[in-house]
Amino acid sequence: MTSSRISSFIFTLLFLCFWLLPNTTFASIPVQLIQGDSVKLEQFKIGYFVDTTEKMPFEKVKQQTFQTTENRVSLGTNKRTAWLKINLENANSTATNIYLHHPYAYHNKAVELYEVVDGKLIRERQLRLDDKETLHWMYRGSAVFEIALQPQQHKTIYIKNLVYSHQWLALNLYDKNQSKRALLSQFTDIALLVGMLLALIIYNFLLFFSSRLKEHLFYACYLVCGGYWIALSYGLFADLFEAYGSSTFQGHLALGGIPIFLLLFMMTIFETKKNYPIEHWALLATLSLLIGDFFYGLIDIVGSLKNATTLASIMMAITLSVTISMLIRKHPLALFFLLGHGLFVIFSTLAVLFYKGSLEFNYINSHGVGIGIMLEALVLSLIIAYRIRTIESLKANQIDLQILASTDPLTKLFNRRHFNIAANHLLEKIKLSRQPASIAIIDIDHFKKINDTYGHALGDKAIKSVANMIKGQCRNEDILARYGGEEFVILMPGTSLKESYNVVERIRKALENSSITIDKNQLINFTISVGVAEINLDKPNLQNTIDQADKALYRAKDNGRNQSQLFAE
Ligand code: GH3
Ligand code: MG
Ligand code: MG
Repeated sequence: MTSSRISSFIFTLLFLCFWLLPNTTFASIPVQLIQGDSVKLEQFKIGYFVDTTEKMPFEKVKQQTFQTTENRVSLGTNKRTAWLKINLENANSTATNIYLHHPYAYHNKAVELYEVVDGKLIRERQLRLDDKETLHWMYRGSAVFEIALQPQQHKTIYIKNLVYSHQWLALNLYDKNQSKRALLSQFTDIALLVGMLLALIIYNFLLFFSSRLKEHLFYACYLVCGGYWIALSYGLFADLFEAYGSSTFQGHLALGGIPIFLLLFMMTIFETKKNYPIEHWALLATLSLLIGDFFYGLIDIVGSLKNATTLASIMMAITLSVTISMLIRKHPLALFFLLGHGLFVIFSTLAVLFYKGSLEFNYINSHGVGIGIMLEALVLSLIIAYRIRTIESLKANQIDLQILASTDPLTKLFNRRHFNIAANHLLEKIKLSRQPASIAIIDIDHFKKINDTYGHALGDKAIKSVANMIKGQCRNEDILARYGGEEFVILMPGTSLKESYNVVERIRKALENSSITIDKNQLINFTISVGVAEINLDKPNLQNTIDQADKALYRAKDNGRNQSQLFAE
């Protein structure tokens, strides 16, 4: 490596270090001038100091050096007690009340406010989010403190910000009207996000209940965890239910459920257990780590959340490798999954870096996990749609195969196999209703001669036209099938022996009087013989009745053909 290369490498490294560090300086904290009636300060400089001892008294805190930063900042993990400092000055000639907003106070343990004038503490307020008595400073997730300023008065405000694990906050200054406006417009974006997830959740639960496919269940549970965590962590629960403090903090456990159900979903859609054993074991191992941490979270949620960052990295590495492996094996869903999960990984990484205090406070970084979950959920919906389509086309193929297996290709009538199944089924109903039913067997007369004279192809044509003719004379409830070469069978429910005789005679006569065309002007005529038998309602049996009809058919043949005969004992 040349020296210029080394120096450019070091320069890049230094640049990255500075870029990743919170934007802080040690210059003195500028004074915020309050001028006129309208106050809406959402971008200004504040001071911060992290009390690593977590119990420094206020008098000592005042003597510490505060670093300058923006009014919205993420200081990272392991900084549970941070002090913020704002310098205020009323430039008006009248007394003014302003309102200090702390919009992310809902995820805090406590907020303390100290007002200092000329180095002297003149007022202090302590908001503990576990203590209902002090919650009057909370309004739908935001802490709001009124600060009175005399004409030309200079006040220093110290805010002690106590959090459970991640130190990120924003502070805004408003007049009364702007304060109301800011409180009303809170959380509409989060409500929209959660509403969309809720619709997907309901849809997937319904899909699960109707199809019993586990992927819908896992996907719905994944969305429940994601939606719950978004609602909790981005303040919607605080806004809607005024839910704060340790009990709600425990709800962060839902964060652990997200990757658990995502892995289960992944194992189901890729069918890893059946098709990809190595990938399956890798996913199973990751899953057990995540489940372990989830249960650990029941005892120590802060400890569990600390592991979560490492676990999330392991999980993302494993899931991405498995997806890439699926992609190489040309799995049709791999690309969708890679896209969806890739978006989740990218936005979650931004969020992790933000929570660690390495990225600046902006909407995308501070809502990274939520945005990631939402985008991933939308892309994963495509996978659900693809799976539904595949299953539907499989079902359609199955139906096609069923039809194929039960139909005679030449006449398109049912074949003998399907006749036996359908007729036995109908026989069960006949047994219960005890209504008469008959079976007729039809055989074309001297068919060998037709074959011999005109050829096999014309024989086929004749069989087809006889089939159509019989079909035209049958009712919907009759079961008609091609029983053999040029033999047909009809099961006629609700039809006595005598009635069925009339039916088959009608068919026989119709055939006798018709002919089929061979060439332009050559026609051939042929006849049929029919045997009919009635089902014995005391001892209903399909094969017996068919045998009886067959016997009657033999009689018809013996008696000279072109006739119908009834079976008689
Ligand atoms: P019978 O009046 O006694 O019924 O005389 P038959 O010549 O019709 O005798 P039988 O019913 O025993 O013969 C059936 C003939 O039908 C035998 C076979 O060559 C012919 N056959 C069977 N299946 C087909 C087919 O799918 N196509 C054609 N063209 N002929 C068939
Ligand atoms: Mg015949
Ligand atoms: Mg025959």
